[in-house]
Amino acid sequence: MQRKDFLKLGLAAAAGSLVPFRSGLAQALTGGGSKTKLSVKVMDLKLQYAWGLSRGTWTTRRNAFVKIERDGVAGLGEAAPIARYNENAEGAAAFFEKARPVLERDLWGYAVRWNELEALAPTEHAAKAALDMALLDWVGKKLQIPVWKLLGLNKDGALKTTYSIGIDEVPVMQEKIRAYPDFSVYKIKVGTKDDRKIIEGIRAVTSKPLRVDANEGWKTKEEALENINWMAGLGVEYVEQPMPAEMIQDFAWLKERSKLPIYADESLMKASDIPRIAPYFDGLNIKLMKCGGIQEAVRMVAMARALGLQLMIGCMVETSLAISAAAALTPLFDHADLDGNLLSATDPFKGVKTVKDQLVLNDKPGLGVEGSVW
Ligand code: MG
Repeated sequence: MQRKDFLKLGLAAAAGSLVPFRSGLAQALTGGGSKTKLSVKVMDLKLQYAWGLSRGTWTTRRNAFVKIERDGVAGLGEAAPIARYNENAEGAAAFFEKARPVLERDLWGYAVRWNELEALAPTEHAAKAALDMALLDWVGKKLQIPVWKLLGLNKDGALKTTYSIGIDEVPVMQEKIRAYPDFSVYKIKVGTKDDRKIIEGIRAVTSKPLRVDANEGWKTKEEALENINWMAGLGVEYVEQPMPAEMIQDFAWLKERSKLPIYADESLMKASDIPRIAPYFDGLNIKLMKCGGIQEAVRMVAMARALGLQLMIGCMVETSLAISAAAALTPLFDHADLDGNLLSATDPFKGVKTVKDQLVLNDKPGLGVEGSVW
């Protein structure tokens, strides 16, 4: 500022007109120059194959999308809510509207905004995840840097992803393995009375390492132990959520006797769950849609590492928008299961690329995602 401008400012202050100058400065510092425009869309994603888990089978998934626009920059987010956690897309869309007053505040203060969003409802984790990724997308785009860089990570540390094979008739599961030959490790959904047939069927078509997810499908600790120790001789690396989340004491019994590491998925939502469940598991499956976003996932990583736990990052059925947000965090993890965009037949976004099975992050600002659902 020129000396004469300071003089003018002094005269203006003397004339009692400093208030507009102050509010202009505050806007420049906070990026709060304009009102936040909020756009919401609920959309069905058609799946490439019927998606079979121990708790049901789906041919479509319904996700909710959000766009926050301010000062000429748009931040995008996606919620993939599921019934297991008593959430749905309409509820997520309603939460976006409820969050409008928070999003009118300083978007640079994204950590404070997250706390305010968290305080709005005890649940709606998927909707919170969508808003958190939209905030970080906005901040990254304003700074013209990718979110992975904003988090202090290196994109060369991005992981390979598994490809998940949902429960189906064994020949169909075998066909999926043949259709996706480039993956180094497959994740096999089990939790049925035919699990041995499933694993033997998969083993008939590939000798690659497997990770197994029972999605709470084994109902007693004895059944879980028998299945796990049988799988230990068949190239299975670890097992996710063998029993229902509420059987926490039985997990202690199982961990003592299991020949394979056991990872918590449904037993875990957010950081505050970790101290309670840590003694019963070898690893955790962290998902943005369970914990409420990138910022909470980073806090969980720090806490889990301090407790000596292994870590995988997982997903729901999501487009490349939410998968790109999760992929940006993979340098912090041991394993990634980020194939939700590959399971969907329709993907309106382009972001992280899956080259064979390697997640490849780009250098574009924010989440590095292009495309729209509006
Ligand atoms: Mg799982």
